[in-house]
Amino acid sequence: MEYRRLGKSGLQVSALSLGSWLTFGKQITDDVADQLMSLAYENGVNFFDNAEGYAGGKAEEVMGKILKSKNWDRESYLVSSKVFFGAEVKGPNRVGLSRKHVIEGCHGSLRRLQVDYLDLYFCHRPDRNTPIEETVWAMNTLLQQGKILYWGTSEWSAAEILQAIKVAKENHLIGPTMEQPQYNMLVREKLEKEYDLLFQDYGLGTTIWSPLASGVLSGKYNNANPTDTRLHLEGLDWLKNISLAEQNLAKAKKIQEVANDLGVSMPKLAVAWCLKNRNVSTVILGASKVEQLRENITAVEVLPLLSDEVMSRLEAILENKPVIPSY
Ligand code: NDP
Repeated sequence: MEYRRLGKSGLQVSALSLGSWLTFGKQITDDVADQLMSLAYENGVNFFDNAEGYAGGKAEEVMGKILKSKNWDRESYLVSSKVFFGAEVKGPNRVGLSRKHVIEGCHGSLRRLQVDYLDLYFCHRPDRNTPIEETVWAMNTLLQQGKILYWGTSEWSAAEILQAIKVAKENHLIGPTMEQPQYNMLVREKLEKEYDLLFQDYGLGTTIWSPLASGVLSGKYNNANPTDTRLHLEGLDWLKNISLAEQNLAKAKKIQEVANDLGVSMPKLAVAWCLKNRNVSTVILGASKVEQLRENITAVEVLPLLSDEVMSRLEAILENKPVIPSY
C-alpha cells in the first residue's frame, strides 16, 4: 500500500481507503462488512470513512462493533465521521453545523463507533443557517478536547473553505485540513479547477468519494442491467437517473476499450486514474461484495501504465477536462 500525506498535515493516509455509504447497515450484512474491513486492513488500508447520516447512524454502529471485535491497535487506523445530516432522529438541533449539533453529533458518533476520538471529522455539507465562526470555533473546541484530531469539509465551495481558513487564522484556531469531494472520470470540476488555489496556497488534503461513480465506471452497466446493485435500491431513483445517464454509459463503453487494451479491469483503471492526481490524498472505495474490494484494492498496480499517451486517449473520450485560466 502507498501512503500519502493528508495535504500539508503530518498525517499519513493509505492511498486507498474504505467507506460505508449505502453499504454498512443497509445493503450488506454485518458479516460482509466485517470481511470488507478485514480485507482492507490486511492490505494496508488505514482509513475507514463514516458519517452520522449513513443508514441513520447504523453504519457507525456496525463499524464500531467490528472495530471493537478486531482489537486492532488504535494507532494503526484512522476512523472518520461527518456531521450535518443528523443520525436516526432528526430535529431542528439534530442536524446542521451549529455548536450544539457539531458537539452533540460528535458525541453520538463516538458512542456508535465505540472509540474515544475521531481521527477525521467532516462538516458533511455547508450550513447556510450557521455563521462560519460558530462552526470553526466548535471544531476547534473538539480538537482541544482531543475528541477529534483533524477537521475538514465535504462538498463545500472553495469560497466557503477559504472563509473557514480565514476565520481560523484570525482567531488563532486550527482550520480545515481536508475536503471530501466527489472525484472520478465523470466529475472533475471541483477537484481539478475550483480547489486548485487551495492546494497550492493552503496545502488542503482530499479524501475523494465515488471513484467509480456509484459503479458505472466498473463497466458493469455497459452491456447489461444488473439489478442486485445500489442503483436498484428503494428510494435511490435519483442516483440511478444521474448515474445511468446516456452520456455516462457512452463514455464507460469507450473507457472499457482502453482497459482492455491495457489488459486491466475497468474498475482498477478508474480507481488508478483518480490516484494519478497528486492532489488526491486518498481514494475512498465502496464495495457491496468482498470480490469487488479484492479487485479494486490492487488498483495501485495500474498507475505505472497510465502514461501520457494513455491519459490523452482517456481525455479524448472524457472531453471534460476543466480549464484553469492562466492570467
Ligand atoms: P464508488 O463510486 O466506487 O461506488 C462503490 C460501489 O460500486 C460499490 O458499493 C458497488 O456497488 C460498486 N462496485 C465497486 N467495485 C466494483 C467492482 N469491482 N465491480 C462492480 N461493481 C463495483 O464509491 P462510493 O459511492 O461507495 O463512495 C465511496 C465512499 O465515499 C462511501 O462509502 C463514503 O464513505 C464516501 N462518500 C462520501 C460522500 C460525501 O458526501 N462526503 C458521498 C458519497 C460517498 P453495487 O454492488 O451496489 O453496484
